[in-house]
Amino acid sequence: MIINWYPGHMAKAKRLIQENLKIIDVVIELVDARIPMSSTNPMIKSLIGDKPSIVVLNKADLADPAVLDEWVAHYKQQGRKVLALNSKGGKGVKQLISLVRSLAAPKLARWKARGLKNRAVRTMILGIPNVGKSTLINKLSRRSAAKTADKPGETKGKQWVHIGDQLDLLDTPGVLWPKLENQVSAYRLAATGAISDTVFDMETVIMQLIEQLSAQYPDELKARYKLETLCDKPLDTIEAIGRKRGCIVSGGIVDLEKTYKLILKEFREGKIGAISLDRLGEWEGED
Ligand code: GDP
Repeated sequence: MIINWYPGHMAKAKRLIQENLKIIDVVIELVDARIPMSSTNPMIKSLIGDKPSIVVLNKADLADPAVLDEWVAHYKQQGRKVLALNSKGGKGVKQLISLVRSLAAPKLARWKARGLKNRAVRTMILGIPNVGKSTLINKLSRRSAAKTADKPGETKGKQWVHIGDQLDLLDTPGVLWPKLENQVSAYRLAATGAISDTVFDMETVIMQLIEQLSAQYPDELKARYKLETLCDKPLDTIEAIGRKRGCIVSGGIVDLEKTYKLILKEFREGKIGAISLDRLGEWEGED
């Protein structure tokens, strides 16, 4: 279904991130709160290694609160530091800074003991495209002073943003490739907008989206499109939505292309509701 356009860049992306990680004390791993598993990079664990890290469930405002709670509990159970966040609105950003600080505390204490009182803890954001990395960097930097100049020594050429006392953020995020090896994740990445609309078949994605929403969020779907009932076949439901919304071409036929785009746009904007596509338990054996 999806053109796999990443492989050529994977090795380079990995190298770049590994290079940057050498000078990073705490990693902020950004995933999409609606699809925490599908938006997790397949190699993230091996990239981060045993460096202190926080998994941030971004776009929490768009996710189903009950499902989100389950994911947060799941990560905690695995011993991970986790935080649900809305980078756009800013909810949770303050807590993120506190969490980075608490993870960095042992290191700061060690430095202090060695007389390195002014050394700042360095953090960096990693995540797949469109997960909200730039939005979060902007939010974090707007909370604080302007960008710092290049630092001497091993950090030459890099820009840092002060995000708190003795806390610096690398101003360029690490861009990871998404999980494209399984079709379920690929569809969800496409539906949420992580994958460019030009590289997947919109019809297939919408069919799967309507199928999943009909099963898990029927009330939201009916309410948004003022439908009495949902049809067994996703295509029939899509046609009903098209009619309701006046996506009609001459002869009274539903303009499917237009309807697909409308549904996708409204889903991504959260207009159908706060919806989570990845569910815990679907991913047995993965973590
Ligand atoms: P990047 O590619 O990871 O840097 O992603 P961007 O920061 O460019 O964000 C991609 C899109 O997601 C933009 O339209 C943002 O406005 C939107 N976005 C980012 N964070 C949030 C969030 O927490 N909630 C919502 N609703 N949208 C967000």
